[in-house]
This record gives sequence, C-alpha cells and structure tokens, in this order.
Amino acid sequence: MKQFWSPNSISKNKAMVENLQSHGVITSDEVAKAMEAVDRGLFVPDRSYAYVDSPLSIGYNVTISAPHMHAMCLQLLENNLKPGMRVLDVGSGTGYLTACFAVMVGSEGRVIGVEHIPELVASSIKNIEASAAASPLLKQGSLAIHVGDGRKGWAEFAPYDAIHVGAAAPEIPEALIDQLKPGGRLVIPVGNLFQDLQVVDKSSDGSVSIRSETSVRYVPLTSREAQLRGE
Ligand code: SAH
Repeated sequence: MKQFWSPNSISKNKAMVENLQSHGVITSDEVAKAMEAVDRGLFVPDRSYAYVDSPLSIGYNVTISAPHMHAMCLQLLENNLKPGMRVLDVGSGTGYLTACFAVMVGSEGRVIGVEHIPELVASSIKNIEASAAASPLLKQGSLAIHVGDGRKGWAEFAPYDAIHVGAAAPEIPEALIDQLKPGGRLVIPVGNLFQDLQVVDKSSDGSVSIRSETSVRYVPLTSREAQLRGE
C-alpha cells in the first residue's frame, strides 16, 4: 500500500518547524506553512536523522542542507515565492527545497529543479511523489526536475522571480543573472573554502545589486566528473 505519511513523522516534522520558529530562524508564516506541509523525512535516506538540524549525506559526495539553511533561504526568497511566481532551484539534490518552493508558488506557479546527478533526479522525483503536498504539483506540471548543468540555469522557462543555488560557486554564473526577472532575487553561496551566502537583486531597470547575508559551508557547484572524483 502506498503510504503518504505517518502521524509520527508528521508530528516530528512539525516539532522541527516549531524549533526553528522558537529560535527565531523562521519568522514567516508562509515559510512555516510550507515546511510543515513538506515532510523532510520523505527526502532523506535515513529517516531517524531527518528532523535533526544538521546536513546529511545523500551519496555522490553531497549532502542535503540543514533545516535552518533551508529555512533561511526560503525566507530570503519569500517575496519572490508568491503564488503564481517562477522559481529555479539549481542543485536540487533530494528535491526537498524544490518541493517547498512548489508548495509556496502553488499550481499557478512554476518550479524547475536542475541537478546534474541523474540518480538524484530520479530519487528526488520519487521523494516528491510520496509527498501529499507536492506530488499533485508534479503531476500537474507546475513542478519539474531535470538533469542538467545548473551553471547554465534553465533557459526554457526564464526569466525567474527567484533562483536558488544549493551548491557553492567560485563566482556567480552569468547565465543565472541573465535568467533573473527584473525584480527577481538570486540566493547563491559563493566562494571556495570560505563562502558567503550572496543575495543578488535585479531591479526593475535591470541593474543588479549584491550583498552577503552570512558565511556558509556548501558542497561545490562543479562538473559532475569533479564531484564524483570528490574534488
Ligand atoms: N538543495 C539540495 C541539495 C544540496 S547539495 C538539498 O538540500 O537536498 C548540492 C547539489 O548540487 C548536489 O545534489 C549536487 O549534485 C548538485 N550540483 C553540484 N554542481 C552542480 C551543477 N553544476 N549542476 C547541477 N547540479 C549540481
């Protein structure tokens, strides 16, 4: 029998969100609602650690980010995740954050995940299919995940209101700035060993401003070959 949820995991997921709220990480009701709706336990290989505030290995030399990083990125992008908006998630990995984006922009919106490991794309689609909140959006086509090099963005549905990058780039890929709508926002970790989470805003006249939000530690945005070699 297909099981979409169990009361146990739902309550643990809710407790995780409440913890992030009580620590002041989540202040937005919309972000809390999305993270409550998408059970993180469906997206990690070992459910017993799903609700702990820590990154977890997902194979292929990469990790799913910690819940507080997901919450922070959702909040930084919140104004660009309104119903009907267009979102690109580069390095979509498990599909967890991609699913949260999809729940926020809803059936009138569009969310594209791009991930360069085909096996992760396949498993992220399975994860999303198990999520009662996100699977209808996948079926209906407002949420899709593709195999590709995310450094090139995904031109087909550009421009985007929000672009999120889940891996650290040595510098901001030009294609991602090009694919941002005027009024759009890009959130991307930038750097090698020492990285900053950068927030890139494109104003209505097309000019771009960049600020650093905080220091972070992400896996690199790189080629598939370099990643699999563990570089
Ligand atoms: N945000 C996701 C994954 C974070 S790990 C989550 O929380 O589950 C970063 C992901 O970026 C990995 O899945 C890795 O395979 C992917 N990645 C790294 N470089 C990439 C590139 N050039 N194009 C597409 N995906 C890339």
